[in-house]
Amino acid sequence: MGDTQSMQNGEGGGRVTRLAPSPTGRMHLGHVWSFLIAWGVARRSSWRIVLRLEDLDAQRARHEAEADVRWMLEWLGIDWDGEAVRQSERVEWHVQCMRVLESKGVVFEAPQSRAELRALRSDAREAQSRGDGAANTRASDGADAPHEGDDVLRFPASLRPPRDHWRFADRAMNHRLALETGHECVHDEIFGTRTFDPANIWGDPLVWLKAGVASYQLAVVADDIAQGVTDVIRGSDLLPSAALQQRLHALLAEQPTPPRWWHLPLVRDAAGKRLAKRHDALSVAALAERGATADRIRGVVAYWLGASESPRDITREAFLEIDLERTVRTLQARGTACQVDGALEAWLVAR
Ligand code: GLU
Repeated sequence: MGDTQSMQNGEGGGRVTRLAPSPTGRMHLGHVWSFLIAWGVARRSSWRIVLRLEDLDAQRARHEAEADVRWMLEWLGIDWDGEAVRQSERVEWHVQCMRVLESKGVVFEAPQSRAELRALRSDAREAQSRGDGAANTRASDGADAPHEGDDVLRFPASLRPPRDHWRFADRAMNHRLALETGHECVHDEIFGTRTFDPANIWGDPLVWLKAGVASYQLAVVADDIAQGVTDVIRGSDLLPSAALQQRLHALLAEQPTPPRWWHLPLVRDAAGKRLAKRHDALSVAALAERGATADRIRGVVAYWLGASESPRDITREAFLEIDLERTVRTLQARGTACQVDGALEAWLVAR
């Protein structure tokens, strides 16, 4: 596709990675963990780094959150190449990708609301009586990046409209990708080979939202292709999504090879819960206000990497001296736990 050529950053076959924050809240230690590693691996090996602001969720994306991302990256000495790209400015490219999917006969309009899909589930009554409030939990249906603990909302093939209605005519309607069941192997640099059936997880996932923008799953693949991304480094809760993204990649890219995947173990709080935007006290901005320095934050990442036996201050230069690529590859095999307990938090903010 034409846009692919003009956006291609991987000159001379060089490798490209991306930092892809969603500016919906303050960045926390989980973001720092993946951004510092992605940046460090890339800088040590002269890969290109793209900064892509994933701001398609207009209800949640905020200017202060984008300012927080930029402040955090600068404070930690994380730089990138070229202009930052906002996904909200790339809607026409996403439409072109929808046209490709339409020409392949794999997308259809799906008016069903999340509430309707929940009501269809056999466990709906049970969930209600348990009072676990699935409706208040984030839904994983392709619209946003799915994270651990999300309520997976599967769209069954039985709800598809007749095939001769499969098209992309109305941008103000939700559209889904008809996914056939089948195993997809994800070769991950950290987790090894993992097999998923994305149709079994999500059924037919959302690719276009009635808000007039691509879903997370479509936008991420469309932009990884357009920006020539060769290496995706991010949290392991997106590992199953890699299987779906490979399917989309095969439908959209001229070059059939999907990116190399590097899924990192998740950063957890003292109770073992994945860090999320609700952990605002562990946001980088809050930690900095409480006295943490950039050297200490890097020190925590180096400690989780196993590069030091106890946390200690690490300068930007010292961080880049760590053999990140080798260390990162063995993270999962070493059973690394990235946990922010009280002692680590106290060390971070000690003046
Ligand atoms: N923007 C997504 C998030 O912050 C990450 C997307 C990705 O790395 O694929 O959850």
